[in-house]
Amino acid sequence: MKEINWKTKFEPFKIKMTEPVAVTTAARRLRVLKKACFNPFNIPAENVTIDFLTDSGTGAMSHTQWGALMTGDESYAGARSFYKLQNAVQSITGCKYVLPVHQGRAAERILTGLIAAQKPGQTIVSNAHFDTTRANVEANRMEALDIPVKESYDFAKPAPFKGNIDIAKLKKIIKEKGAADIPLVIMTVTNNTMGGQPVSMANIREAAAVCRAAGIPMFLDCARFAENACFIKQREKEYAKISPLEIAREMFSYAQGCWMSSKKDALVNMGGFLAFKRDGAWAQKAREALILGEGFLNYGGMSGRDMEALAAGLMEGLDENYLAYRLESTRYLGEGLLAAGVPIINPPGGHAVYIDVKKFLPDFKQARFPAQSLVCHMYKTGGIRAVEIGMLMFGRRDAKGNWMPADIELVRLAIPRRVYTKSHLDYVIEVMAHIAKNKKEIKGVKVVWAPQSLAHFSAKLAEV
Ligand SMILES: *Cc1c(COP(=O)(O)O)cnc(C)c1O
Repeated sequence: MKEINWKTKFEPFKIKMTEPVAVTTAARRLRVLKKACFNPFNIPAENVTIDFLTDSGTGAMSHTQWGALMTGDESYAGARSFYKLQNAVQSITGCKYVLPVHQGRAAERILTGLIAAQKPGQTIVSNAHFDTTRANVEANRMEALDIPVKESYDFAKPAPFKGNIDIAKLKKIIKEKGAADIPLVIMTVTNNTMGGQPVSMANIREAAAVCRAAGIPMFLDCARFAENACFIKQREKEYAKISPLEIAREMFSYAQGCWMSSKKDALVNMGGFLAFKRDGAWAQKAREALILGEGFLNYGGMSGRDMEALAAGLMEGLDENYLAYRLESTRYLGEGLLAAGVPIINPPGGHAVYIDVKKFLPDFKQARFPAQSLVCHMYKTGGIRAVEIGMLMFGRRDAKGNWMPADIELVRLAIPRRVYTKSHLDYVIEVMAHIAKNKKEIKGVKVVWAPQSLAHFSAKLAEV
Protein backbone atom coordinates (compact mmCIF):
# COMPACT_ATOMS: atom_id res chain seq x y z
CA MET A 1 0.00 0.00 0.00
CA LYS A 2 1.29 3.41 -0.87
CA GLU A 3 1.43 5.57 2.21
CA ILE A 4 -0.05 9.04 2.06
CA ASN A 5 2.53 11.70 2.84
CA TRP A 6 0.43 12.94 5.74
CA LYS A 7 3.25 15.02 7.20
CA THR A 8 2.41 17.82 4.85
CA LYS A 9 -1.36 17.37 5.04
CA PHE A 10 -2.15 18.46 8.58
CA GLU A 11 -0.80 19.86 11.82
CA PRO A 12 0.83 16.99 13.79
CA PHE A 13 -0.93 18.01 17.02
CA LYS A 14 -4.45 18.44 18.30
CA ILE A 15 -5.72 21.38 20.28
CA LYS A 16 -6.48 21.04 23.99
CA MET A 17 -6.81 24.70 24.91
CA THR A 18 -8.11 27.52 22.78
CA GLU A 19 -7.81 31.28 22.75
CA PRO A 20 -10.17 33.41 20.69
CA VAL A 21 -8.76 35.50 17.88
CA ALA A 22 -10.20 38.96 17.30
CA VAL A 23 -12.97 39.08 14.74
CA THR A 24 -13.15 42.74 13.84
CA THR A 25 -14.85 45.14 11.46
CA ALA A 26 -13.15 47.46 8.99
CA ALA A 27 -14.39 50.48 10.97
CA ARG A 28 -12.90 49.16 14.22
CA ARG A 29 -9.57 48.37 12.58
CA LEU A 30 -9.31 51.86 11.13
CA ARG A 31 -10.09 53.37 14.52
CA VAL A 32 -7.47 51.16 16.19
CA LEU A 33 -4.84 51.91 13.57
CA LYS A 34 -5.36 55.67 13.86
CA LYS A 35 -5.11 55.46 17.63
CA ALA A 36 -1.90 53.44 17.20
CA CYS A 37 -0.51 56.25 15.01
CA PHE A 38 -0.14 53.87 12.04
CA ASN A 39 2.44 51.84 13.92
CA PRO A 40 1.37 48.21 14.54
CA PHE A 41 3.72 48.00 17.55
CA ASN A 42 1.20 50.29 19.29
CA ILE A 43 -1.84 48.10 18.56
CA PRO A 44 -3.21 46.25 21.61
CA ALA A 45 -3.03 42.55 20.66
CA GLU A 46 -6.73 41.96 21.37
CA ASN A 47 -7.46 43.85 18.14
CA VAL A 48 -5.24 41.62 16.00
CA THR A 49 -6.73 38.67 14.09
CA ILE A 50 -3.52 37.05 12.83
CA ASP A 51 -0.37 38.16 14.62
CA PHE A 52 2.73 37.75 12.46
CA LEU A 53 4.75 40.44 14.25
CA THR A 54 7.32 37.92 15.49
CA ASP A 55 7.94 34.22 16.09
CA SER A 56 9.83 35.07 19.28
CA GLY A 57 8.22 33.75 22.44
CA THR A 58 4.85 33.51 20.70
CA GLY A 59 4.71 29.73 20.26
CA ALA A 60 2.34 27.28 21.93
CA MET A 61 3.72 24.86 24.52
CA SER A 62 2.78 21.18 24.46
CA HIS A 63 0.97 19.23 27.20
CA THR A 64 4.36 17.76 28.10
CA GLN A 65 5.78 21.22 28.64
CA TRP A 66 2.77 22.45 30.63
CA GLY A 67 3.06 19.31 32.75
CA ALA A 68 6.80 19.91 33.20
CA LEU A 69 6.08 23.35 34.65
CA MET A 70 4.52 21.71 37.69
CA THR A 71 7.70 19.74 38.37
CA GLY A 72 9.94 22.81 38.44
CA ASP A 73 12.46 22.85 41.28
CA GLU A 74 12.76 26.41 42.56
CA SER A 75 15.86 25.80 44.71
CA TYR A 76 18.33 28.65 44.45
CA ALA A 77 21.34 26.39 44.03
CA GLY A 78 21.56 22.96 42.48
CA ALA A 79 17.95 22.81 41.33
CA ARG A 80 16.91 19.53 39.71
CA SER A 81 15.44 21.58 36.85
CA PHE A 82 18.84 23.10 36.11
CA TYR A 83 20.46 19.67 35.71
CA LYS A 84 17.65 18.65 33.38
CA LEU A 85 18.25 21.71 31.23
CA GLN A 86 22.01 21.21 31.37
CA ASN A 87 21.60 17.59 30.24
CA ALA A 88 19.42 18.59 27.30
CA VAL A 89 21.82 21.33 26.16
CA GLN A 90 24.85 19.06 26.60
CA SER A 91 23.20 16.25 24.72
CA ILE A 92 22.37 18.42 21.70
CA THR A 93 25.30 20.84 21.58
CA GLY A 94 28.12 18.86 23.14
CA CYS A 95 28.87 21.96 25.22
CA LYS A 96 29.69 20.91 28.77
CA TYR A 97 29.46 24.34 30.40
CA VAL A 98 25.89 25.67 30.33
CA LEU A 99 24.78 29.09 31.61
CA PRO A 100 21.01 29.77 31.72
CA VAL A 101 19.96 33.33 30.78
CA HIS A 102 16.56 35.02 30.55
CA GLN A 103 16.75 35.42 26.75
CA GLY A 104 19.20 35.52 23.85
CA ARG A 105 20.41 39.08 24.18
CA ALA A 106 21.56 38.47 27.78
CA ALA A 107 23.95 35.83 26.44
CA GLU A 108 25.07 38.32 23.78
CA ARG A 109 25.70 41.01 26.38
CA ILE A 110 27.79 38.64 28.50
CA LEU A 111 29.82 37.25 25.59
CA THR A 112 30.47 40.54 23.77
CA GLY A 113 31.31 42.22 27.07
CA LEU A 114 34.04 39.76 28.00
CA ILE A 115 35.46 39.75 24.48
CA ALA A 116 35.57 43.55 24.27
CA ALA A 117 37.44 43.69 27.57
CA GLN A 118 40.35 41.78 25.96
CA LYS A 119 41.55 44.73 23.84
CA PRO A 120 40.25 47.59 21.67
CA GLY A 121 39.69 47.59 17.91
CA GLN A 122 38.29 44.08 17.40
CA THR A 123 35.97 42.90 14.62
CA ILE A 124 33.39 40.14 14.92
CA VAL A 125 32.51 38.45 11.65
CA SER A 126 29.26 36.65 10.83
CA ASN A 127 27.11 35.31 8.01
CA ALA A 128 24.86 38.10 9.37
CA HIS A 129 24.48 39.44 12.89
CA PHE A 130 20.94 39.47 14.21
CA ASP A 131 19.97 43.03 15.24
CA THR A 132 20.40 42.52 19.02
CA THR A 133 23.73 40.76 18.37
CA ARG A 134 24.94 43.70 16.28
CA ALA A 135 23.68 46.17 18.89
CA ASN A 136 25.60 44.35 21.64
CA VAL A 137 28.79 44.13 19.56
CA GLU A 138 28.59 47.84 18.71
CA ALA A 139 27.63 48.89 22.24
CA ASN A 140 30.92 47.28 23.26
CA ARG A 141 32.78 49.39 20.67
CA MET A 142 33.58 46.52 18.34
CA GLU A 143 32.82 46.21 14.65
CA ALA A 144 30.10 43.77 13.50
CA LEU A 145 30.86 42.62 9.96
CA ASP A 146 28.32 40.66 7.87
CA ILE A 147 29.53 38.55 4.98
CA PRO A 148 26.56 36.56 3.63
CA VAL A 149 26.90 34.80 0.28
CA LYS A 150 26.00 36.71 -2.89
CA GLU A 151 22.89 34.58 -3.54
CA SER A 152 21.21 36.01 -0.47
CA TYR A 153 20.92 39.44 -2.11
CA ASP A 154 18.96 38.07 -5.08
CA PHE A 155 15.52 37.83 -3.47
CA ALA A 156 13.67 36.32 -6.42
CA LYS A 157 16.10 33.58 -7.40
CA PRO A 158 15.81 30.42 -5.28
CA ALA A 159 18.92 28.76 -3.86
CA PRO A 160 19.02 26.02 -1.23
CA PHE A 161 21.30 27.72 1.32
CA LYS A 162 21.01 31.47 1.06
CA GLY A 163 22.02 31.78 4.74
CA ASN A 164 25.62 30.69 4.12
CA ILE A 165 28.72 32.72 4.97
CA ASP A 166 30.98 33.79 2.10
CA ILE A 167 34.04 31.59 2.68
CA ALA A 168 36.32 33.46 0.26
CA LYS A 169 35.49 36.76 1.95
CA LEU A 170 36.08 35.20 5.37
CA LYS A 171 39.59 34.15 4.33
CA LYS A 172 40.24 37.58 2.83
CA ILE A 173 39.11 39.45 5.94
CA ILE A 174 41.23 37.26 8.21
CA LYS A 175 44.22 37.95 5.97
CA GLU A 176 43.59 41.70 5.85
CA LYS A 177 42.69 42.37 9.47
CA GLY A 178 44.79 39.64 11.03
CA ALA A 179 43.38 36.84 13.17
CA ALA A 180 44.53 38.62 16.33
CA ASP A 181 41.89 41.31 15.82
CA ILE A 182 39.07 38.89 15.03
CA PRO A 183 38.12 37.33 18.37
CA LEU A 184 35.03 35.49 17.13
CA VAL A 185 33.17 34.25 14.06
CA ILE A 186 29.41 33.83 14.51
CA MET A 187 27.33 31.50 12.40
CA THR A 188 23.67 32.46 12.80
CA VAL A 189 21.47 29.42 12.11
CA THR A 190 19.13 29.97 10.45
CA ASN A 191 20.22 33.35 9.15
CA ASN A 192 17.43 35.54 10.55
CA THR A 193 18.64 38.85 9.09
CA MET A 194 18.87 37.41 5.58
CA GLY A 195 15.32 36.06 5.51
CA GLY A 196 15.52 33.08 7.89
CA GLN A 197 17.53 31.23 5.26
CA PRO A 198 19.40 28.04 6.20
CA VAL A 199 23.14 27.44 6.40
CA SER A 200 24.43 24.19 4.91
CA MET A 201 26.50 21.67 6.86
CA ALA A 202 29.20 21.99 4.21
CA ASN A 203 29.35 25.75 4.84
CA ILE A 204 29.51 25.34 8.64
CA ARG A 205 32.26 22.74 8.22
CA GLU A 206 34.23 24.92 5.83
CA ALA A 207 33.91 28.05 7.97
CA ALA A 208 35.05 26.03 10.98
CA ALA A 209 38.13 24.80 9.10
CA VAL A 210 39.06 28.38 8.12
CA CYS A 211 38.58 29.53 11.72
CA ARG A 212 40.56 26.62 13.14
CA ALA A 213 43.49 27.30 10.82
CA ALA A 214 43.50 30.93 11.97
CA GLY A 215 42.96 30.08 15.65
CA ILE A 216 39.65 31.97 15.81
CA PRO A 217 36.77 30.50 17.84
CA MET A 218 33.49 29.94 16.00
CA PHE A 219 30.16 30.09 17.89
CA LEU A 220 26.65 29.31 16.71
CA ASP A 221 23.88 31.85 17.37
CA CYS A 222 21.47 28.95 17.36
CA ALA A 223 17.97 30.39 17.95
CA ARG A 224 16.66 28.34 15.00
CA PHE A 225 19.11 25.42 14.92
CA ALA A 226 16.33 22.82 14.63
CA GLU A 227 14.74 24.45 11.58
CA ASN A 228 18.24 24.69 10.11
CA ALA A 229 18.85 20.99 10.79
CA CYS A 230 15.61 20.10 9.02
CA PHE A 231 16.58 22.18 5.98
CA ILE A 232 19.91 20.33 5.88
CA LYS A 233 18.01 17.03 5.98
CA GLN A 234 15.79 18.14 3.10
CA ARG A 235 18.39 19.83 0.92
CA GLU A 236 21.79 18.24 1.55
CA LYS A 237 21.69 14.78 0.03
CA GLU A 238 23.93 12.91 2.45
CA TYR A 239 21.71 13.91 5.40
CA ALA A 240 18.38 12.70 3.98
CA LYS A 241 18.28 9.66 6.26
CA ILE A 242 19.78 11.24 9.38
CA SER A 243 17.61 12.51 12.24
CA PRO A 244 17.43 16.27 12.98
CA LEU A 245 18.99 15.57 16.40
CA GLU A 246 22.02 13.88 14.82
CA ILE A 247 22.30 16.65 12.24
CA ALA A 248 22.14 19.27 15.00
CA ARG A 249 24.87 17.43 16.91
CA GLU A 250 27.12 17.55 13.89
CA MET A 251 26.38 21.29 13.37
CA PHE A 252 27.43 22.00 16.96
CA SER A 253 30.46 19.69 16.73
CA TYR A 254 32.24 22.30 14.60
CA ALA A 255 31.75 25.14 17.12
CA GLN A 256 33.52 26.05 20.34
CA GLY A 257 30.34 27.36 21.89
CA CYS A 258 26.86 28.70 21.24
CA TRP A 259 24.01 30.76 22.60
CA MET A 260 20.31 30.47 22.09
CA SER A 261 17.26 32.62 22.29
CA SER A 262 15.05 29.72 23.34
CA LYS A 263 11.96 31.77 22.50
CA LYS A 264 12.36 30.42 18.98
CA ASP A 265 13.07 26.74 18.27
CA ALA A 266 12.93 25.61 21.91
CA LEU A 267 9.19 26.31 21.97
CA VAL A 268 9.09 28.35 25.17
CA ASN A 269 7.83 31.86 25.77
CA MET A 270 10.95 33.04 27.59
CA GLY A 271 14.46 31.69 28.14
CA GLY A 272 17.90 31.10 26.73
CA PHE A 273 21.39 29.85 27.41
CA LEU A 274 25.07 30.42 26.70
CA ALA A 275 27.30 27.36 26.45
CA PHE A 276 30.98 26.58 26.05
CA LYS A 277 32.86 23.42 25.14
CA ARG A 278 35.89 24.30 27.24
CA ASP A 279 36.21 25.73 30.71
CA GLY A 280 38.66 28.45 29.69
CA ALA A 281 38.95 32.15 30.46
CA TRP A 282 35.76 33.01 28.53
CA ALA A 283 33.63 30.52 30.47
CA GLN A 284 35.03 31.78 33.77
CA LYS A 285 34.41 35.45 32.89
CA ALA A 286 30.94 34.56 31.62
CA ARG A 287 30.06 32.92 34.94
CA GLU A 288 31.13 36.07 36.78
CA ALA A 289 29.03 38.25 34.48
CA LEU A 290 26.08 35.86 34.79
CA ILE A 291 26.03 36.18 38.56
CA LEU A 292 26.47 39.94 38.32
CA GLY A 293 23.67 40.58 35.84
CA GLU A 294 21.33 37.58 35.55
CA GLY A 295 21.39 35.36 38.60
CA PHE A 296 23.20 32.44 40.20
CA LEU A 297 24.84 29.85 37.94
CA ASN A 298 22.04 27.30 38.35
CA TYR A 299 19.20 29.50 37.15
CA GLY A 300 20.61 32.63 35.48
CA GLY A 301 17.55 34.57 34.43
CA MET A 302 15.04 31.72 34.69
CA SER A 303 12.79 30.12 37.25
CA GLY A 304 12.97 26.36 37.81
CA ARG A 305 9.70 25.75 35.96
CA ASP A 306 10.99 27.74 32.98
CA MET A 307 14.05 25.51 32.81
CA GLU A 308 11.81 22.40 32.92
CA ALA A 309 9.71 23.64 30.00
CA LEU A 310 12.84 24.61 28.10
CA ALA A 311 14.50 21.23 28.61
CA ALA A 312 11.38 19.55 27.23
CA GLY A 313 10.97 22.10 24.41
CA LEU A 314 14.54 21.68 23.17
CA MET A 315 13.88 18.02 22.39
CA GLU A 316 10.34 18.57 21.07
CA GLY A 317 11.66 21.20 18.70
CA LEU A 318 13.77 18.49 17.06
CA ASP A 319 10.84 16.15 16.42
CA GLU A 320 10.89 15.20 12.78
CA ASN A 321 7.13 15.40 12.25
CA TYR A 322 6.90 18.76 13.95
CA LEU A 323 9.78 20.15 11.88
CA ALA A 324 8.39 18.83 8.60
CA TYR A 325 5.07 20.51 9.41
CA ARG A 326 6.81 23.71 10.51
CA LEU A 327 8.82 24.18 7.31
CA GLU A 328 5.87 23.06 5.21
CA SER A 329 3.54 25.65 6.73
CA THR A 330 6.01 28.46 6.00
CA ARG A 331 6.46 27.15 2.47
CA TYR A 332 2.67 26.91 2.04
CA LEU A 333 2.19 30.55 3.00
CA GLY A 334 5.11 31.68 0.83
CA GLU A 335 3.95 29.79 -2.26
CA GLY A 336 0.40 30.98 -1.64
CA LEU A 337 1.53 34.58 -1.68
CA LEU A 338 3.62 34.04 -4.80
CA ALA A 339 0.63 32.49 -6.58
CA ALA A 340 -1.48 35.47 -5.50
CA GLY A 341 0.97 37.84 -7.19
CA VAL A 342 2.91 38.87 -4.10
CA PRO A 343 6.70 38.64 -4.62
CA ILE A 344 8.69 37.20 -1.70
CA ILE A 345 12.23 36.27 -0.75
CA ASN A 346 12.32 32.92 -2.51
CA PRO A 347 12.39 30.22 -1.28
CA PRO A 348 10.65 31.09 2.00
CA GLY A 349 12.82 30.70 5.11
CA GLY A 350 12.06 28.60 8.16
CA HIS A 351 10.20 30.98 10.43
CA ALA A 352 8.92 33.74 8.19
CA VAL A 353 7.88 34.88 4.76
CA TYR A 354 9.31 38.19 3.55
CA ILE A 355 7.40 40.27 1.00
CA ASP A 356 9.63 42.16 -1.45
CA VAL A 357 7.75 45.47 -1.38
CA LYS A 358 9.96 47.26 -3.92
CA LYS A 359 8.91 44.63 -6.43
CA PHE A 360 5.30 44.46 -5.24
CA LEU A 361 4.78 48.25 -5.36
CA PRO A 362 7.31 49.48 -7.94
CA ASP A 363 5.56 52.82 -8.46
CA PHE A 364 5.02 53.63 -4.81
CA LYS A 365 6.79 56.81 -3.72
CA GLN A 366 9.98 55.94 -1.82
CA ALA A 367 9.48 58.85 0.57
CA ARG A 368 6.09 57.43 1.61
CA PHE A 369 7.50 54.38 3.47
CA PRO A 370 6.29 51.65 1.07
CA ALA A 371 6.73 48.69 3.42
CA GLN A 372 5.24 50.51 6.42
CA SER A 373 2.31 51.60 4.23
CA LEU A 374 1.72 47.97 3.25
CA VAL A 375 1.93 46.84 6.87
CA CYS A 376 -0.78 49.37 7.79
CA HIS A 377 -2.89 48.33 4.84
CA MET A 378 -2.66 44.64 5.79
CA TYR A 379 -3.98 45.46 9.23
CA LYS A 380 -6.76 47.63 7.83
CA THR A 381 -7.78 44.99 5.31
CA GLY A 382 -7.60 41.81 7.35
CA GLY A 383 -6.45 42.48 10.91
CA ILE A 384 -3.07 40.98 10.04
CA ARG A 385 -0.09 42.35 11.95
CA ALA A 386 3.33 42.16 10.31
CA VAL A 387 6.54 44.14 10.59
CA GLU A 388 8.30 46.58 8.29
CA ILE A 389 11.95 46.05 7.41
CA GLY A 390 12.69 49.20 5.47
CA MET A 391 13.39 52.87 5.85
CA LEU A 392 11.52 53.18 9.15
CA MET A 393 13.42 50.28 10.76
CA PHE A 394 16.78 51.41 9.38
CA GLY A 395 15.95 54.89 10.66
CA ARG A 396 18.49 56.87 8.63
CA ARG A 397 17.93 60.62 8.46
CA ASP A 398 19.97 63.31 6.73
CA ALA A 399 21.41 66.40 8.41
CA LYS A 400 18.09 68.22 8.04
CA GLY A 401 16.20 65.34 9.60
CA ASN A 402 14.66 64.07 6.34
CA TRP A 403 14.13 60.32 6.17
CA MET A 404 16.45 58.57 3.74
CA PRO A 405 15.29 55.77 1.42
CA ALA A 406 16.48 52.23 2.18
CA ASP A 407 18.05 49.70 -0.19
CA ILE A 408 15.45 47.14 0.74
CA GLU A 409 11.76 47.45 1.59
CA LEU A 410 10.45 44.21 3.09
CA VAL A 411 7.42 43.15 5.09
CA ARG A 412 8.08 40.17 7.35
CA LEU A 413 5.33 37.73 8.23
CA ALA A 414 6.84 35.74 11.11
CA ILE A 415 4.87 32.62 11.97
CA PRO A 416 4.42 31.69 15.63
CA ARG A 417 5.05 27.99 16.31
CA ARG A 418 2.07 25.61 16.64
CA VAL A 419 -0.33 28.56 16.93
CA TYR A 420 -2.12 28.97 13.60
CA THR A 421 -3.70 26.29 11.45
CA LYS A 422 -3.72 25.91 7.70
CA SER A 423 -7.06 27.70 7.48
CA HIS A 424 -5.55 30.73 9.20
CA LEU A 425 -2.85 30.72 6.52
CA ASP A 426 -5.52 30.40 3.80
CA TYR A 427 -7.21 33.46 5.24
CA VAL A 428 -3.95 35.44 5.09
CA ILE A 429 -3.36 34.36 1.49
CA GLU A 430 -6.88 35.47 0.59
CA VAL A 431 -6.40 38.88 2.19
CA MET A 432 -3.06 39.33 0.40
CA ALA A 433 -4.58 38.29 -2.93
CA HIS A 434 -7.25 40.94 -2.44
CA ILE A 435 -4.57 43.53 -1.69
CA ALA A 436 -2.57 42.47 -4.76
CA LYS A 437 -5.62 43.10 -6.94
CA ASN A 438 -6.37 46.48 -5.36
CA LYS A 439 -2.95 48.03 -4.88
CA LYS A 440 -4.31 51.52 -5.55
CA GLU A 441 -6.10 51.42 -2.17
CA ILE A 442 -2.76 51.45 -0.32
CA LYS A 443 -2.17 54.86 1.22
CA GLY A 444 1.28 56.26 1.90
CA VAL A 445 2.37 57.31 5.38
CA LYS A 446 4.70 59.91 6.85
CA VAL A 447 6.45 60.15 10.20
CA VAL A 448 5.12 62.81 12.55
CA TRP A 449 7.35 61.92 15.50
CA ALA A 450 10.21 59.48 16.08
CA PRO A 451 12.98 59.00 18.63
CA GLN A 452 16.61 59.10 17.50
CA SER A 453 17.40 55.40 17.94
CA LEU A 454 15.31 52.27 17.26
CA ALA A 455 12.67 54.57 15.76
CA HIS A 456 10.37 51.90 14.37
CA PHE A 457 9.27 50.58 17.77
CA SER A 458 7.68 53.81 18.92
CA ALA A 459 7.43 56.15 15.92
CA LYS A 460 4.14 57.96 15.31
CA LEU A 461 2.94 58.17 11.73
CA ALA A 462 0.02 59.56 9.75
CA GLU A 463 -1.60 58.77 6.43
CA VAL A 464 -0.94 61.15 3.55
C1 LIG B 1 15.85 36.42 18.71
C2 LIG B 1 17.27 36.31 18.37
C3 LIG B 1 18.26 36.80 19.21
C4 LIG B 1 17.95 37.58 20.47
O1 LIG B 1 17.27 36.86 21.38
P1 LIG B 1 16.16 37.46 22.38
O2 LIG B 1 15.65 36.25 23.06
O3 LIG B 1 15.16 38.19 21.56
O4 LIG B 1 16.88 38.37 23.32
C5 LIG B 1 19.57 36.60 18.83
N1 LIG B 1 19.90 35.98 17.69
C6 LIG B 1 18.96 35.51 16.86
C7 LIG B 1 19.38 34.82 15.60
C8 LIG B 1 17.62 35.67 17.15
O5 LIG B 1 16.70 35.22 16.29
